[in-house]
Amino acid sequence: MGEVNTQGDIAGFSDELAGAGYRLLRRESIELIDATFYLFEHRKTGARHVHIDRDDAEHVFSVAFKTVPADGTGVAHILEHTVLCGSEKYPVRDPFFSMLKRSLNTFMNAFTAPDWTLYPFATQNLKDYENLMGVYLDAVFNPVLSELSFKQEGHRVEFDEAGRLTYKGVVYNEMKGVMSSPNQVMIRSLLNALFPDTTYRFNSGGDPAEIPSLTHADLVAFHKRHYHPSNAFFFTYGNQPVIPLLTRIDREYLAAYARLDPKTRVDMQPRWHQPRTCTYKYPVSPEADLEKKSQIALAWLTGDIQDAFHALSFTLLSQILLGNAASPLRKALIESGIGTALSDGTGFDADNRDTLFACGLKNVNETDVPAVESLILDTLASIAEKGIDKAVIDAAIHQLEFHRKEVSNSPYPYGLKLLFTFCSTWFHDGDPVKVLRMDEDLERIRESVAAGGFFESLIRSHLLDNPHRVTFLLKPDPDQQARTAEVASAALQAMAAGLDERQRQKIIDDAAALKSLQESPEDLSCLPSLGLEDVSTDIWTLSASDAWPDIPAACYPQPTSGIQYYMMVMGAGALPDHLLVWVPFFCAAFSRMGTSKKDYAQMSRELDAVTGSLGMAPQIRTRLDETPVALMVLRMKCLDRNQEKALALATELLTDVCFDDHARLKTLLLEYRTGIETSIVENGHRYAMMLAARSFSAAAGLSERWSGIHQLQMIRTATDDLTDEKLNAIAGHLREIASRVICQDNIRLQVTAEPDALGTLQKKNRLADLLNALLPSGMHGFDAPPLETAFDGSVREGWQTQSSVAFVASVLPVVTLTHPDAPALKVLERVLKNVYLHREIREKGGAYGIFSAYSQESGLFSLCSYRDPQIAPTLQVYADACAYLLAHPPAEVDLIEAVLQVFSEIDRPETPSVATRKAFMRAFMAHDDDMRRAFKKRLLALTPADVMNTARRYFQAPSREPGISVIAGEALLSDANRQMKDAPLTLRQI
Ligand SMILES: [Zn+2]
Repeated sequence: MGEVNTQGDIAGFSDELAGAGYRLLRRESIELIDATFYLFEHRKTGARHVHIDRDDAEHVFSVAFKTVPADGTGVAHILEHTVLCGSEKYPVRDPFFSMLKRSLNTFMNAFTAPDWTLYPFATQNLKDYENLMGVYLDAVFNPVLSELSFKQEGHRVEFDEAGRLTYKGVVYNEMKGVMSSPNQVMIRSLLNALFPDTTYRFNSGGDPAEIPSLTHADLVAFHKRHYHPSNAFFFTYGNQPVIPLLTRIDREYLAAYARLDPKTRVDMQPRWHQPRTCTYKYPVSPEADLEKKSQIALAWLTGDIQDAFHALSFTLLSQILLGNAASPLRKALIESGIGTALSDGTGFDADNRDTLFACGLKNVNETDVPAVESLILDTLASIAEKGIDKAVIDAAIHQLEFHRKEVSNSPYPYGLKLLFTFCSTWFHDGDPVKVLRMDEDLERIRESVAAGGFFESLIRSHLLDNPHRVTFLLKPDPDQQARTAEVASAALQAMAAGLDERQRQKIIDDAAALKSLQESPEDLSCLPSLGLEDVSTDIWTLSASDAWPDIPAACYPQPTSGIQYYMMVMGAGALPDHLLVWVPFFCAAFSRMGTSKKDYAQMSRELDAVTGSLGMAPQIRTRLDETPVALMVLRMKCLDRNQEKALALATELLTDVCFDDHARLKTLLLEYRTGIETSIVENGHRYAMMLAARSFSAAAGLSERWSGIHQLQMIRTATDDLTDEKLNAIAGHLREIASRVICQDNIRLQVTAEPDALGTLQKKNRLADLLNALLPSGMHGFDAPPLETAFDGSVREGWQTQSSVAFVASVLPVVTLTHPDAPALKVLERVLKNVYLHREIREKGGAYGIFSAYSQESGLFSLCSYRDPQIAPTLQVYADACAYLLAHPPAEVDLIEAVLQVFSEIDRPETPSVATRKAFMRAFMAHDDDMRRAFKKRLLALTPADVMNTARRYFQAPSREPGISVIAGEALLSDANRQMKDAPLTLRQI
């Protein structure tokens, strides 16, 4: 890869490198992100190592392997789980999870993609970096891979109480959950349809029907070939010196290996000469209404991932066609009214060897296939024919530039985000520097656009005239669940019938061995750890600058790479109840409806051309006196050069947002409803926790009505049979919200920007002009909303939905931030998970995850399982938690670990825009820095006795019953009620 470029080496660098066992293949500076890129090769094995040197204290490490499955047994995914179950140097049950606890990491995870597996972490603490790197390297190169951990993480059979064989296993259950989500079925089936001859046709996570055929020997063999240095891609990022890292990797691991050819090259899919048609199915419950439950899409293989220019061109083309509401393909699809939202997987995908482009609609009937197909092809033909407006292309380029320039660390640390932008290209022998640098390619695109017809001819050559196209239908199948269950149970029965006594005994013995392994206390002293002395005792503070007295906003001058961030907080608390419930939809629609002068399409185009984004969101906070504050929060960001235009657009929307376009309003309402409906299978835990909490406080009640299942029910009732009359009434509510809330004295402003940008804001009076344009006087919306809490007593409910797994939530009201017990409760949140819940719910129960969360602000202590195969046993685990803790008091080290975890949350690194936004909201809510300092100080002083006393006080005999809400499929819920005859769940339909 690339030519050798070592000129300008700092003195001695090459010698040191040779000493470390590496050579430098490439060194490039990447101005766009103020960084230097290094590519090293390990001489002996050929392992590749990219280091990005950048002045950032959130250091990232990652090691990745190309993992190319040849079946649907999920071998790469199960291996990813199993290597984290103990290694030569760290032979403990779950070193990964143990390190999660005894570290100040800001990120730890592992990912399995269709053709690679990646193990990354991030931390700000260099000692922690050393520790974690050691554990990661030993895990991937020298894992124990015992048969028992394979059974725990992959699959196994056990006898249930009735003596019947059942399948168990973490990945087995995880994939059962994944494959009950239509979105996941859609994305995986698209790959299967487009790549019939390569590795991408296999479900790389594992098909639940195939997982049981994987053997332990297969797993070990897969590891031996794939987790070899010759197949490895290392990545380090941050401002620490790289040579010591290389030296350590070589000395401790790579030096022992000889080079081999791992044979993990993925070839391009041979191209078709004719388009194809495919139908796939996803499971729905037998009673489900099948009307408009299908997805239809067209998808193409478009090019070679090695070709960075192609990938950049298509990224832009996708933005042009689909990026905002005015984009011609999106607009044509949505306005057709055939479906209510774009299909899952819509857009350009550059993650695999061949890039692909897909677009379509969801919530359609299967008979709509010809209509959707010709709609897409006709729209593309007409765009290619008529040509694309230069302003649209400029807006697309602006979006790309903005997002490459903005430094953010959500949802991943910034260094890891950089890795994700180039890793697919890199793993497939393309040039990562070209992806990171992009300026040259962008210039070439600009020239081609100026010469005329660039994107138009791309549409013709890569889409319209490209025969490697599939017309794709995903339809609901009410029998699939029963059929799958039947097949599984037939296989199990056949297996049971064929067992001899010795084999039966082995299953029983294995189950017992696993159970005792999971329950046995272990000595974790082999693992490196941090101590409380490694923690900073102070807090990060930020206050608004008083250097800008003429700007009517809290101003935070910060290094923001030339981007400015605005936040406008408005109070919604004084709205009457019939308007209050519409606030979340108002927020969702605010920047997407247009004004009386500009229709929504023009407004979206202009927003894309001058802002990074502009959007509103509802927010509920709780004051120190426990009264709720209901807010509408508008946020906007833009490049410095667009300040004037961006603020003009914001002002126009705030003063003139218009809800008269009923067709558009209807589209947004249906899209909003679909958005909530489809998020339930992915985010069932959040919905379940909100439901369980809703009777405990006005804030919790309103949160649920705004963002939970009751919001969905409200919007369903409102949108069933949307007559003009109904639309008129809704538009009226939205207008009324705008006129009551968006007023001069009901708004607080915050700006984060470079000092120069703030200077311009002041000189030109821009924010004062914005405020003066608003209605002079509205309501006092920062007061508490007029809420009647609808419930006394705790809820105990099961909410039925289409899912083969459950989300089991239990929420208990405790105390808030200022109470002296708050720090101990925060520690208990971690202790409970670390010493008890993780083992009982995940390891033994087979759930994918378990949440334990204490919110100091709302004063609620919540537990919730994620993708749980059972309900009643999980509730029993919750109920036994306190007794367990009192009978097995946590050791000193458990406490230290929990405190470390709380610290790593408190000290999480934040970009200037996020840190200032939080500082502003803290000031707004009167949560002062002394309070935070006191909290941290009390945390450090906690004794084991404090923690146990707190557990006893709040959990042993709580003054209220915990609220319980379960979201699950019908079968699991009725099963649970059979097991809990004395206290059944009240069943409801979502
Ligand atoms: Zn997994």
